[in-house]
Amino acid sequence: MSSNLIVQKYGGTSVGSVEKIRGVAKRIKKSRDAGKDVLVVVSAMAGETDKLLNMAHELSDLPERREIDLLLSSGERISSALLSIALHDMGCPAVALTGRQMGLVTDNTHTRARIKEINAGRASDILKKNHVVVCAGFQGVNDMGDVTTLGRGGSDTSAVALAVALKADLCEIYTDVKGVYTADPRMVPNARKLNMVSFEEMLEMASLGAKVLQIRCVEFANNFNMPLVVRSTFDEGDEGTRICQENPDMEQPVVSGVMYDKNQSKITIKGVPDQPGIAAKIFNALAEASISVDMIIQNVSAEGHTDISFTLPNTNLQEAMSIMEKKGKEVQAESVSSDSNISKISVVGAGMRSHSGVAARIFSTLSNNKINIMMISTSEIRVSCVIDSKGTEQAVRALHDEFKLEEEPVQVSQPATDASPTA
Ligand code: ASP
Ligand code: MG
Repeated sequence: MSSNLIVQKYGGTSVGSVEKIRGVAKRIKKSRDAGKDVLVVVSAMAGETDKLLNMAHELSDLPERREIDLLLSSGERISSALLSIALHDMGCPAVALTGRQMGLVTDNTHTRARIKEINAGRASDILKKNHVVVCAGFQGVNDMGDVTTLGRGGSDTSAVALAVALKADLCEIYTDVKGVYTADPRMVPNARKLNMVSFEEMLEMASLGAKVLQIRCVEFANNFNMPLVVRSTFDEGDEGTRICQENPDMEQPVVSGVMYDKNQSKITIKGVPDQPGIAAKIFNALAEASISVDMIIQNVSAEGHTDISFTLPNTNLQEAMSIMEKKGKEVQAESVSSDSNISKISVVGAGMRSHSGVAARIFSTLSNNKINIMMISTSEIRVSCVIDSKGTEQAVRALHDEFKLEEEPVQVSQPATDASPTA
């Protein structure tokens, strides 16, 4: 499908000051002067959302989620209005719209609402007049007309949803980094920017702690096959990273990146009776509290008893421990303990599907660095290990070296489609 529309989303650091807003306006004007229809989505100015949240928490330990949404949505209103003013001043006609005005309807889950539909008639009429639309990201409106927000980082999702609704060719995400990297460049100085990443790899990366895109934005883009480009606002020459559907003819690097997540904790329940229904009891209790757990390990039962360990985000640890202490008694567990000094290291690559031996190389690399593995989990295109958080940097750097990620990938040929399964 080809339209003339391009959606550009600018993050908080890109619109962090009046000067930066002027710079962004120039860039938008350039796209429009080149003959494009442009719909822009903006985040709040850098630090604004946190500032507003902190004020709410100074006033109350548990501020009403409905009021939080109204409060936070103001950040994006400010940046969208300022950007539209800057565009006008450059002789580029523009109209700023709030979530309600752009017809973004969500469910009623305040602070992490889901998009139900977009009635983009208004935006589409403005674009037809050859004016730029500047949308306040991160927000929508529920059936009752109350303002909702889409969760932290939600402007990414607004941008993709609008791109899909208006059948844009492309959704560009402008930020303060050049794109998606083989590893966090602050930790691995020779990390390389990737030119291309498949949706499925990006989904893994986003859920593993790569903060460059909100995971729901990637899910949305994948579901509707909307190509995304992540690129720098401040480096016009760099083309960024393109995230799109995997081309079956394209040769996939075995490993694309190494990610880490230090914000994980582990809970261990020791000595529970090895009977049907115990795991169900434990994990139902967590699910009822909307706590999502990640890796789960149950060891081989000895003398009719078993140990269960699982990981979860640090932010949920306290609540989960109080639930587990109660449940532990109920299921007659010997003990319940937790460890928040862990981190999860993951290696991602679509080429893993057709190449064996990646897991073995990861384990050997960690072992050569005397890093102990506490838990392991895998998907078709990922291997994750939980380790003591002290070893995080060493592990990430060693794995980055092991898979030579600083070098442009050597094109390894894909095995023929009838290749026998790798062991
Ligand atoms: N301003 C919101 C946040 O900081 C949404 C966004 O920037 O995408 O989470
Ligand atoms: Mg963001």
